[in-house]
Amino acid sequence: MHEFKYINKHLYCERVRVADLAKKFGTPLYVYSYHTLIDHFAKLKDAFRQVSPLICYSVKANSNLALLKALVNKGAGLDIVSGGELFRALRVGCPAKKIVYASVGKTDEEIEEAVKRGILFFNVESLPELENINRISGKLNKTTSVAIRINPDVEAKTHKFITTGKITNKFGIDLKSAYNILLLREKFRNIRISGLHIHIGSQITKSTPYLAAITRIVGFIGRLKKEGIELEYLNIGGGLGIIYDNEKPQTAVKYARKILPLLKKAGLKIIMEPGRFIAGNSGILVTRVLYVKNTPKKKFVIVDAGMNDLIRPALYGAYHQILPLCAERYTPNAAEKVDIVGPICESGDFFAKERRLPKLKEGDFLAVMGAGAYGFSMSSNYNSRRRAEEALVVKDKVFVIRKRESCRDLIRNELIPPFLSGW
Ligand SMILES: *Cc1c(COP(=O)(O)O)cnc(C)c1O
Repeated sequence: MHEFKYINKHLYCERVRVADLAKKFGTPLYVYSYHTLIDHFAKLKDAFRQVSPLICYSVKANSNLALLKALVNKGAGLDIVSGGELFRALRVGCPAKKIVYASVGKTDEEIEEAVKRGILFFNVESLPELENINRISGKLNKTTSVAIRINPDVEAKTHKFITTGKITNKFGIDLKSAYNILLLREKFRNIRISGLHIHIGSQITKSTPYLAAITRIVGFIGRLKKEGIELEYLNIGGGLGIIYDNEKPQTAVKYARKILPLLKKAGLKIIMEPGRFIAGNSGILVTRVLYVKNTPKKKFVIVDAGMNDLIRPALYGAYHQILPLCAERYTPNAAEKVDIVGPICESGDFFAKERRLPKLKEGDFLAVMGAGAYGFSMSSNYNSRRRAEEALVVKDKVFVIRKRESCRDLIRNELIPPFLSGW
């Protein structure tokens, strides 16, 4: 469910006509619905209330400060994957004890900062990393909590680039190695191993892979308990899928019904790390038609947004629904098959291929739906394109939450050595 719908043939975000925003702020433009964002958070929280989980929103899905602040105000924690994300988390006032930190490649500098801040725990992805966190914590005279990220070796049944829980993926530690680490836990004097973590992939639409992974890990927790190894946290990661096309993902309630019995059996404090589930359908990318180009074989609709603004189609062949902001002139039988493409010098620069759409003309506005997660956060300046403006809609109010970049922004950190300018 989301707050983007047609009223009298005009697409609205909450109570604001999206075309008015496109005219006011220009395009490409990201538009977010505040209520969609926080409703998704509330839905998940409510579905799992029996175990009162700490829901750590995954910052990388969409790291805009306003969205982070909105969620933190509602009690969310944050799941981070870099020092930059730690900076953002602290900037919006997220309590350090609600921050969890995963990544296979944390640097010394990043670890040091997070240890000093006293985050809830690191999700540790390898033995050398564990040793490093121990060393750095020792140097700083601290004891740091960690959860071991387990690679449960399950197939998440999603795109291969976003599968993270197979033993051939770079993420996490296999059960046997994790067990050996736990046996040696006394050796790590500045570390407290307080939990286990799994995150098996993204855009997972069925509960079966979760069931498989959590069953495995709960069994492992039981075995550890018998041997006197007590843990405090079970972090079940994120990955919940959403509707982009005709997927039928499990709802929060159905997902909860399936896995709650297992979580209760584990008897630990539960952490969740949803990203896409919360942000995905909360945002759209608005773009304008620049040209309609007929070629002998195809019809291309060239728009002013590109793969630098939204890379998911290029990267994963991802499907995004595309809707005209004004559906007035459109009739279904006028529909024709077109490719919606951006201006960038790459053939991968497309939003849709052979898509049936009403007849479009120059100046028409289009909405690329489901662009709230892994949209702006994956955007770049490729082709020296200035990154888009972002606006947040709250009922009938609109707030700019990121200004469009300027050409100055593009070159801000670049330097021309004096010898090139004739000293
Ligand atoms: C990316 C990521 C998430 C969030 O994934 P979604 O599919 O957006 O829910 C959660 N945990 C970790 C460790 C991640 O890397």
